[in-house]
Amino acid sequence: MAEHVAFFDQQDADEVTCPGCGWAGEAGDLDIDGVSWEQMRYEQRCPACEEVVRVVAFPTHAQVRAARRRGDPRADDMGPMAG
Ligand SMILES: [Zn+2]
Repeated sequence: MAEHVAFFDQQDADEVTCPGCGWAGEAGDLDIDGVSWEQMRYEQRCPACEEVVRVVAFPTHAQVRAARRRGDPRADDMGPMAG
């Protein structure tokens, strides 16, 4: 079962384990797939077996503003989404 995380609560350096095959590594090594603007999320898939390891929710405008106040550099790359 894939883990659901909010965009700003996850990092490429997060250690993750695939629920399908047991592959372990950093989230940045997962494949991005299943980007859906309707559902406001994308999937991170295992590079070994294609199982969905995490489902990442796009941030809301309020979350982008809060991240910018915290100094999260990723918030600066989201100009239009910052509202
Ligand atoms: Zn796997």
